[in-house]
Order: sequence, then structure tokens, then C-alpha cells
Amino acid sequence: EKFDIADPVRTQAILDRYQIQAHKSLGQNFLRDPHVIDQIVASAQIHPQDIILEIGPGIGGLTQQLAKEAKHVYAWEIDQHLIPILQENLAAMTNITIMQADILKVNLPKFFVEHNLQQSSVKVVANLPYYITTPILLRILQADVPLKQLVLMMQKEVAERICARPRHKEYGALSVAVQTKSAVEITQIVSHEAFVPQPKVDSAVVSFDLLADLPVKVTDYAALMKFVQAIFRQKRKTLWNNLLVYVGKTTTHKEQLQLMYDQLEYPTNIRAEELSLEQIVQLQQLVAEQIT
Ligand code: SAM
Repeated sequence: EKFDIADPVRTQAILDRYQIQAHKSLGQNFLRDPHVIDQIVASAQIHPQDIILEIGPGIGGLTQQLAKEAKHVYAWEIDQHLIPILQENLAAMTNITIMQADILKVNLPKFFVEHNLQQSSVKVVANLPYYITTPILLRILQADVPLKQLVLMMQKEVAERICARPRHKEYGALSVAVQTKSAVEITQIVSHEAFVPQPKVDSAVVSFDLLADLPVKVTDYAALMKFVQAIFRQKRKTLWNNLLVYVGKTTTHKEQLQLMYDQLEYPTNIRAEELSLEQIVQLQQLVAEQIT
């Protein structure tokens, strides 16, 4: 009666039966630990009306458990060999749609319109392909679609950069990019032993609350991203040096920048990693207004 894909024996049986060679180049590490899947599902706090979007269902271990809780699961898998396997193993569940696609090419706003999801409670839950964690995440955060929450498993080191606070050594452009859009939290650290084949590094599950009250309001996210890339470009260098490269090293710019520093009471040697989200957003606006 109970047939769970994500179980060490079941997973191996599926890999053997279909002679699946996990493709390293596609980041294929399949979860075979049911407890880890339960915890991911718990982090997503799924309600019966929730619509779940999954990236990279693999052999369907997570998909299956998500579909037990949600109204519907839409999953994009790039590897066409896995599609018939997913169809077959998930055939008993009628609320799953498997689509063959590269998530980086999916037009999310169009998908939302076509599936009438504008008014729904939509969450993204995935054990991401690690080689494209950041591009996927930034694409989701920049897509203009109404999402409530993301629950994403990724390499632990990337999770720490995403969640890092000012003055911590992992704090940088990625932390700011994410934290100006969502409230983030690591909900779980996952040993590499939970996967087959086992990756070299441990993983972490991060929950992103996209409806949280944030300390900052960003009007032009694309412009802020450009600015943030620039001020963290050389982390060893001072903010002053990175800013000058960004605005262009002229005598006028140096004078204008000095005035701004005086106004903000910033010491000359301050580094970008010391600035809070609020300070970074404020600084970007001042630079846009005052450096000409
Ligand atoms: N969800 C499964 C699990 O937890 O066992 C598999 C996770 S595995 C870490 C990542 C999955 O993403 C693989 O199935 C891989 O084929 C798929 N994938 C890789 N690149 C992708 C892309 N650009 N678009 C969609 N899926 C992708």
C-alpha cells in the first residue's frame, strides 16, 4: 500500500530498473532519505489549496510527497529520459503535471497566466540542481509573479551566503539580492549521505518568505543589483575604491563622493560588508542623485 519513492531501497530499485545513470553535469543527486523529504515538506507549510512549483523532480521522490499535501504540483525537469519514468512512477496521482523544460528558459509570468495562478497561493519547493542555484534563484526573485514562499535545498555554502548578515564574512551581493526581496532562514542542514549519488558537500534547506515585512522598499531592483555587484566587486577593497570604479574616477566624482561620505558620517575605510540593507539602498539612491 505504502509506496514511497524516496526510500533507500525503492530509490535504488528505480535506478536499477530504468538503468538510470545520474548525470553529474545536470546536478543529479537524488534524495533517498524520507525524513529529509518530510522536513522539506514541513518547511513549506503546505495547505490543501496551495499550488506547488517544483524544479528538477528527478525520479519524483519529493514530487510525490508534495502532491499528497498540495492542490496541484507542476514540475519542470530538463532531462527527457526521466519524463517517462516520472509519468510511470507518479501515475497514481492525478494532481501532478510533469513538463520537460529548462527552468532557465521558462516564461514564468506567461505560465501563471496560462494556468490561471494569479490569485492562487503558489510556492516553489525544490531540491535544486546545484550548478545553477544562483541563476535559478535570481530568475525566480526577478520574475514578476505572485509567489508566497520558496523552500529550496542547495549547497550549504551557498545557503550561508544567502542568509548572511552584515559584518559576517559570507555577506555579499547575493545576501543583499535575496534579503531585499524576502525574509530568509536555514531550516535544515542535510548530510551528503541523504543522496544517491552522494555529492561532496553537505546541503541546506532555505525558506524564503516573500510576503514578509522587509526593512527596505526597493523601487528599481535591477538598478540596485548593478550597484550591489559593484560595491562588493572586490571584497578586500574599501567601499570608496569600489564606488569610484563604479562611478568613474574623476576629480569631480571624488569631491562629490567625499561630500556624501561627510553627510553620511562614513569613515574613508568603511567596507561594503559593514553596511545594512537599509544603508545600501540609501547609498544607491544618493549615488544616483548626487554623483553626476
Ligand atoms: N527532486 C529530485 C530529488 O530530490 O531527488 C532530484 C533533485 S536533483 C538535485 C536536480 C534535478 O534537476 C535533476 O533531476 C536534474 O535533471 C534537474 N535539472 C538540472 N538542470 C535543470 C534545469 N535547467 N531545468 C530543470 N531541471 C533541471
